Amino acid sequence: MMAIETARAAVMTDFHQPLEVRSYPLPDRLEPGALLVRVEMAGICGTDVHLWKGQLAIPRPIIMGHETVGVIQRLGEGLNKDWTGAQLSVGDRITWSAGMLCGDCYHCAVIRQPTRCLNRSAYGISFSCDDTPHFSGGYAEFIYLRPRTAVFKLSDVPSEAVTGAGCALVTAIHGIERMGINWGDTVVIQGSGPVGLSALAVAQTAGASTTIVIGGPSERLQQAAAFGADHTIDIDEVADSAVRLEQVRRLTNEHGADVVIECVGSPSVVPEGFEMCRDGGKYLVLGHYGDAGTAPINPHVITRKQLTVYGSWASEPRHMSMALEFLRKQGTRFPFENLISHRFPLEQAFEALQITAQWASRKCVIVP
Ligand SMILES: [Zn+2]
Ligand SMILES: [Zn+2]
Repeated sequence: MMAIETARAAVMTDFHQPLEVRSYPLPDRLEPGALLVRVEMAGICGTDVHLWKGQLAIPRPIIMGHETVGVIQRLGEGLNKDWTGAQLSVGDRITWSAGMLCGDCYHCAVIRQPTRCLNRSAYGISFSCDDTPHFSGGYAEFIYLRPRTAVFKLSDVPSEAVTGAGCALVTAIHGIERMGINWGDTVVIQGSGPVGLSALAVAQTAGASTTIVIGGPSERLQQAAAFGADHTIDIDEVADSAVRLEQVRRLTNEHGADVVIECVGSPSVVPEGFEMCRDGGKYLVLGHYGDAGTAPINPHVITRKQLTVYGSWASEPRHMSMALEFLRKQGTRFPFENLISHRFPLEQAFEALQITAQWASRKCVIVP
């Protein structure tokens, strides 16, 4: 008789509770088109902290983790190519789009807003680990990838670069694609976390001439400078919003920036960002994946300055494809692997989450 194979995972049993290591049985058979993947490295995203705090309605218990790299252990029937058409075999190192889109609903097929798919589900966010196949998040030894998951073979991109960039890079690529940056634009980036640094990298390759990053702590601003930011403004040193605005105006010939990108997630930075735009400028709200509440906004500013305001939610598989190509071509200029500052075994997943919550790291990863 064959013993049932089990594997371990760090489980969030409920909001605000310490993560718990639990074992679940691995699937004995795979659906056609599915994969069983041994997790090599799982990134901890700021969104995981918001999930843990209960800021989005998700099932519990759950295995979080939506920025993952792993090695194919078993391949379901009929699956032999990745999303780009590259050959797939057992033993290949891969990553995948965390979000799954149906392609058929009103948002996918009619108005072409697939990231708002009415049937969207995502690894590390949508599936309870009480339900088979149990392993649907990155904080585990294995993950089961369902049929139609957009999988990408990682021939020449290091796992550290993929998890270092995480979902921040695909988020920035999608947002900047929606808004557009013109060659020569002056770009202000509010926030110096992973999304801010990703937006900084993408903005420069999209044609930005001058980039100004506003954020902190200083270690993160040093990283922004290493990624090519022309100017940085430390919010700890310049705590007064009016003074920050004055500095941005001085750095932009008193006109304000062509483009301002919000990558903070605090509502109060949005009205400040509107003021930093030049007349006729563009503003992208990229950092509010969690619902952090409201901020008083004076709509007169939008009318008078003729602003265009953009939103952008998550990403499509093609953005993951673009992100991997970006890391392949621009990996030397933007060493995202350097963002990884802490590595933890599965047993310390909760410490990793807490350190991420305290902003005490550049980026934490779990190496199960
Ligand atoms: Zn994320
Ligand atoms: Zn859909």
